[in-house]
Amino acid sequence: MVVTEGVLVGDWFQTIVDVQVTSEDAGALATEVRDWLSSAGVVSSERTDCVLGSDLGHPPGPRADEVVDASGWSDPWQTLWTNGMDITTGRTVFDGGQGEPTAVACPHCAAEIELVDEAFELDDKAWAPFQDVVHGWSEGRDVILPCPTCSHPVEPTAWKWADGYFAFGRLGFTFWNWPPLRPGFVDEFTRRLRGHRTVLIAGKL
Ligand SMILES: [Zn+2]
Repeated sequence: MVVTEGVLVGDWFQTIVDVQVTSEDAGALATEVRDWLSSAGVVSSERTDCVLGSDLGHPPGPRADEVVDASGWSDPWQTLWTNGMDITTGRTVFDGGQGEPTAVACPHCAAEIELVDEAFELDDKAWAPFQDVVHGWSEGRDVILPCPTCSHPVEPTAWKWADGYFAFGRLGFTFWNWPPLRPGFVDEFTRRLRGHRTVLIAGKL
């Protein structure tokens, strides 16, 4: 949370995560997509202090307004201090930033595993194996669990997290305090990511 003029305000972010790109390809693809975004005027090619979580990011470009739906967005978002795009490469657990992961489902049989109790606190017993999956991803280990219902082994990237809470990937583009990205833009973005499977994560810090 940051304090702006005495009012507590969260910084809202949206991250487009490529969950298929390999470690070898992530850097080149990051450059390719960044060049497309700056030539299309969505972001500026120079980098400034305009993002959270890293030193420099790309401020919005002259055509940024065209890729977002700013209806119902009262503030002129482009004047915010934190208004840029940040690119993350390398094995990363992207998450929604607040609350707990409430449930996760098997990609094979769709059985859902509850991860929180009635008070929305993490259920330690249910969470423990998934905590290992999450930490393993950050540490470079692929923790493959059998589904408790159908016993199929599940790759770390294949679990379906409720509310898109987590995405495991090696390349992510985070837009800070941009109004909701238009679905058409996200589709085009996915094509630019060579049609890889993408996950859109949104949250607040
Ligand atoms: Zn299953």
